Amino acid sequence: GLTSAHRPAAIRTTCGYCGVGCALDVVTAGGEVTAVLPARDGPVNRGHACVKGRFAHGYLTSPERLTRPLLRRDGGLEPVSWEEALGHVARGLRAAVADGGADAVAAISSARATNEENYLVQKFMRTAIGTNNVDNCSRLCHSPSAAGLTASFGLSGGTDCFDDVERSDCVLVVGANPVEAHPVVGARLLQRVLRGARLVVADPRAVGLALHADVHLRPRPGTNVALFHGLAHLLLAEGLADENFLRERATGLPELIALLDDYPPHRVAEITGVPAEDLVAAARLYGRARQPAIVYGLGVTEHLHGTDGVRSLANLAILRGAVGTDRGYGVNPLRGQNNVQGASDMGALPDLLPGYGKVTDPTARARAEAVWGVPVPGRPGLRIPEMFAAARAGGLRALWVIGEDVCATDPDSDRVAAALDACPLVVCNELFLSETARHADVVLPVTSWLEKDGTFVNFDRRFQRVRPAVPPPGEARSDFDVVHALADAMGTDLGCPTPADTLAECGQVAPVFAGLSHDRLDREGAVPWPCPDPGRPGKAKLYEERFATPDGRAHLTAAPYLPPGEQPDDAYPLVLVTGRRWAHYNSGSMTRRGGNLALDPVDFLDLHPDDALRYGVRDGARLTVESRHGQARLVARISEQTAPGQVFCSFHFPSNGVNRLTSDHGDTVTSCPEYKVTAVRVSAP
Ligand code: SF4
Repeated sequence: GLTSAHRPAAIRTTCGYCGVGCALDVVTAGGEVTAVLPARDGPVNRGHACVKGRFAHGYLTSPERLTRPLLRRDGGLEPVSWEEALGHVARGLRAAVADGGADAVAAISSARATNEENYLVQKFMRTAIGTNNVDNCSRLCHSPSAAGLTASFGLSGGTDCFDDVERSDCVLVVGANPVEAHPVVGARLLQRVLRGARLVVADPRAVGLALHADVHLRPRPGTNVALFHGLAHLLLAEGLADENFLRERATGLPELIALLDDYPPHRVAEITGVPAEDLVAAARLYGRARQPAIVYGLGVTEHLHGTDGVRSLANLAILRGAVGTDRGYGVNPLRGQNNVQGASDMGALPDLLPGYGKVTDPTARARAEAVWGVPVPGRPGLRIPEMFAAARAGGLRALWVIGEDVCATDPDSDRVAAALDACPLVVCNELFLSETARHADVVLPVTSWLEKDGTFVNFDRRFQRVRPAVPPPGEARSDFDVVHALADAMGTDLGCPTPADTLAECGQVAPVFAGLSHDRLDREGAVPWPCPDPGRPGKAKLYEERFATPDGRAHLTAAPYLPPGEQPDDAYPLVLVTGRRWAHYNSGSMTRRGGNLALDPVDFLDLHPDDALRYGVRDGARLTVESRHGQARLVARISEQTAPGQVFCSFHFPSNGVNRLTSDHGDTVTSCPEYKVTAVRVSAP
């Protein structure tokens, strides 16, 4: 590679794909990106980047980029001026409020957008409209992490810095495929394993890291809670729990012990399909390690009982005293999207303000009101699935969707499209004419992460700067500018004239961010939150003195295992799991427009050879896949990576119809969809 001395002048920014947060040096010529180089001094990536961050920038110059606002007229979308588009939206929002009150308006903010944009969107909704109807796409992925980690430990984030996790002598990787979905983390974990750390992988699929695991647990999809209880049972039964820690720093042990009587290895084996001896081996590896770590992904969260899963997984670290101490590296979620942590940190949530103050808490509201100068509504707003339900029922009259293709990515997508069609005003901020944009009344062309100024928060709570490397195409504007322009059109001044001012104001509303500023990040590169003091470092490792729960203790949970929302039966005998692949990202709207498409040109339905034989499927056959909700078309790939009785495909090619298959069962606590368990059948022509 190039040494620093030989590198061309470049703009330092943070990758806008996954939540690892790689620092990238973007080289440009003539207003176009010519190369993206991983930063050698990148705090997280240390000179590495993956195929997405390095090469998936061709979308920037795609002829399909939106360059002018579009307004629906006579059934079609026509280019109009910004003034006309914003005037139409402002009139529509006023009419919606006049007809149905402030709660007839909702916004879906974006884990792809910067912190400052998310802050501004929620401020606009709470102050200019007067509703808490604002949510972000973490609802669909890590909302159970937010709820579960907060309940167990007190804060909505991973407990440790990944640099420390990497020094662990035993890593338990659960429901995550970092080799493909978070490749730089995957590579760092693999290096650690090759240097001697023990590895336990818990995943129904033989994901990349499983090949290097000491033990690979393959639970049936939807049985995580039983699996984690089985491990907890063994930690206690084999004397591997940390009694001092449990006595001094935890609560809930008697209730958990009573529950765990029901989860001996043979019963857990029946529920999960994991052999009892594998369970014992895994419990001993985690339980006897000097400094065990837990890293997990969407395989834990995207379930009917996803929050119970996060909390039951957290039980293991608490039982071992491996969180908030130097005897372990806690519980750490791998965030899928670049700023999924930050979007929630900034309060783009219906029940939480910036910094996670509850909207129902008068003290938290008063702090925001003192800064914003207007009352903040005290009733929690609608979650994303509730917004669609309200639209279908006629109660939602305006919906603003920012940087999310809900018609492609949300479950049971035909019903999502029906919701948008039922809503009198749908506004969409987008790079491309996405499926959602096709259902919108107004489409506003916006900039991407390589054209923006602000900050992201990565998966281990580090704030990093995002800087524009190239100018926006045509008349596209940043989401930040669009929110301001719409506020202007509504006759409201949101303050926060620049992204730097916005982060500074956020620190006034949320003391955990008060020590952060663009200047500081420019100097220091990355700073983790909590960071209340500009003169002191942020807190990379949490809870060393006390947990952030009201009583200062870690909370064990005694949630019983409950089955997933769908079970296979004679009509739908296979279980579909969806997830990510190496070359693409989420709905693929960026990675499919450029060279990465050549690396992975189509998506496949992976199925086990036994099932291929049973259902008469040849490798490469075009399959019809049906669930109780809809139908998709996919190409068969016969692979032992997927267990018998299960099939797998990605969500990177939504035109296949993959989210027509998925159900609208949602986590009982957070409404996160159960993408990981859908009963399906396949047929070949
Ligand atoms: Fe790093 Fe993730 Fe971007 Fe790849 S996609 S370069 S791992 S931040």
